[in-house]
Amino acid sequence: MPPEALPADCKQAAGVFRPVIDRNKCEGKRDCVEECPYDVFEMGVLLPADRRELSFMGKLKGLGHGWQQSFAVRADACHACGQCVSACPEHAITLARAADAVARGWCYNYAQALRTQARRP
Ligand code: SF4
Repeated sequence: MPPEALPADCKQAAGVFRPVIDRNKCEGKRDCVEECPYDVFEMGVLLPADRRELSFMGKLKGLGHGWQQSFAVRADACHACGQCVSACPEHAITLARAADAVARGWCYNYAQALRTQARRP
């Protein structure tokens, strides 16, 4: 998104909030990747160990979309504008205070997920 298109009314400093993606809901539809004005998200592949943590419905969904999901690889750039929350058709994204997200273990190992994606044919 070009700089002139960035939301003018977003007063939140970067890094105070961060997006948290519900792994049972994300179906990798990319809306957040397209909508985020700060380029926070990238597509990746959910790691096998994390697939085992999903609910039954989460596993069914994961199989259906080849385990492709969105990952907040640049979560520190989040300005809490809320556009990803509104854009996600699966209602999979919420915003949490960054300190809470880290303390509760809601931060995903993005680097490993993206390396896994890079190895896919
Ligand atoms: S709240 Fe805004 S800045 Fe933060 S990840 Fe979502 S779209 Fe990007």
